[in-house]
Amino acid sequence: MRDPEKRYHSMVRKLKETGRRITPQRLAILKIVAESTEHPSAESIFEQVKVQFTTTSMATVYKTLAVLKETGEVLELGFSNDYNRYDGNQPAPHPHLICIKCKGIVDPDPRSLVEITQKLASETGYEIIGFRVDLYGLCPGCRKRKV
Ligand code: ZN
Ligand code: MN
Repeated sequence: MRDPEKRYHSMVRKLKETGRRITPQRLAILKIVAESTEHPSAESIFEQVKVQFTTTSMATVYKTLAVLKETGEVLELGFSNDYNRYDGNQPAPHPHLICIKCKGIVDPDPRSLVEITQKLASETGYEIIGFRVDLYGLCPGCRKRKV
């Protein structure tokens, strides 16, 4: 299932294939995006890269994320009131569980949803090319802390 190493190499390959510039900063960003299961925001990626490369700019992070998006190597979760979050670990569409309190985002087992999309496709004659499913609630940790 999850293979951060494979994801990382796939991203590097896409950058090379499309003739993009490869810098140590960019590679560090790819690594973070490929490995993280936390669905980091651009800001959080920036904070992590900065530890290693103090001169990295926010623009570099945005630019790299844009390239990954263009090449289908990252799944962008856009939110209207919040920062967008990124999943480079699993770039194909999949459902997300989102905690409204701590903003944690996790990947549930998508199998039941895949079944539903296949059923809907055959019922409607649509060829499904993507979907966005966000389930909102309180994560186990936040439920415990709730008074
Ligand atoms: Zn939570
Ligand atoms: Mn995800």
